Amino acid sequence: NKDNTEGFPQNILELLDGFKASKTLFTASRLGVFDVLNVSGLTVEEVANRIDASLLGTERLLDAAVSLGLLYKLKCEDKLVYRNTDQARQFLVSDSPLSLHAYILHCNDKIWPLFTDLENAVREGTRQHERTFGKKSENVFKDVYFNNDEVTVHFMKAMHSIAKVTGRDVATAFDLSHFRTACDVGGCTGAMAYEFTKAHPELSVIVFDLPAVIEMRSHFQSVEEDSRVSFVAGDFFKDDLPKADLYILARILHDWSDEKIHELLSKLSKTCTPGSGLLLSEILLDEDRTKPSRALLQALSMTEGRQRSAAEYSNLIKKHGFSPVQTRYTGNMLDAMLFVKDDEA
Ligand code: SAM
Repeated sequence: NKDNTEGFPQNILELLDGFKASKTLFTASRLGVFDVLNVSGLTVEEVANRIDASLLGTERLLDAAVSLGLLYKLKCEDKLVYRNTDQARQFLVSDSPLSLHAYILHCNDKIWPLFTDLENAVREGTRQHERTFGKKSENVFKDVYFNNDEVTVHFMKAMHSIAKVTGRDVATAFDLSHFRTACDVGGCTGAMAYEFTKAHPELSVIVFDLPAVIEMRSHFQSVEEDSRVSFVAGDFFKDDLPKADLYILARILHDWSDEKIHELLSKLSKTCTPGSGLLLSEILLDEDRTKPSRALLQALSMTEGRQRSAAEYSNLIKKHGFSPVQTRYTGNMLDAMLFVKDDEA
């Protein structure tokens, strides 16, 4: 057991290599390695040929991916072939049902550049998107992610892939049988909404999101038609929210300051009647804000948002007349909290 106390800084050495491992995954995904290996095992020459890359570079990339547990390297007759692991087949092939491919590309194209500017972000603590991408970013969604249709669809694909992987656990975290209508506020492609209707046969869900997102929803809808999911375009800071028994806020509040959250919750609270539900889904920090590190690492590239603990979210939400009912640590990427609107005083 070589840990720090014995003088061998295993964790530091692993952290030193962390960025190389991430970039190996990003590059293999970007070049389509997991897609070309999806049908059968291939030699390095065959992979290099299909991804249109150098033999030497491809061999290095494939071997690194093998060492990270993303691929197998096997002897087949007298040739060495590379194959997808089960996990690669399930999560890395671009058209698999639970593919994380789009989210991986989002990390490569949008998050990686922000992290190369981390030192400046720490020094300045300001809007990093502006420095990194050279664009005004008063509102990161409107100014960066929904800049044009192609960029919007890329962002939506990234959100869609995470929601597909995490949505079921969020949708089944609580007994929601007494709710008939839900509004998924900032519900993007509807991926989460479909998980809710699958899990709750009596529930209909309205997905509410910005017009730029709702306009592009046809890129996703053909995959899963469900008449119990509908879409409404609007801005949750400016427009009225659709009426519903249950409001879902999945991966919304962490993007905003307390001030903005109060603005949104105040409007939401006025739309609710006693007994209405509010389901929050976020990565919940421990109360001493030391774990989980994926939440704290994500916070490094945030603009005005912040990661919060269950008690912090509870305090924000209670101010708007809701009481906490239950908190679920799903063990998945997203945890969940359920609140109910109090009787009028
Ligand atoms: N809830 C989805 C999920 O969990 O997969 C998407 C989360 S994504 C981080 C944030 C979503 O909020 C995006 O779909 C974005 O378009 C939406 N959003 C941001 N600002 C908004 C606003 N002012 N009004 C409505 N939707 C907004």
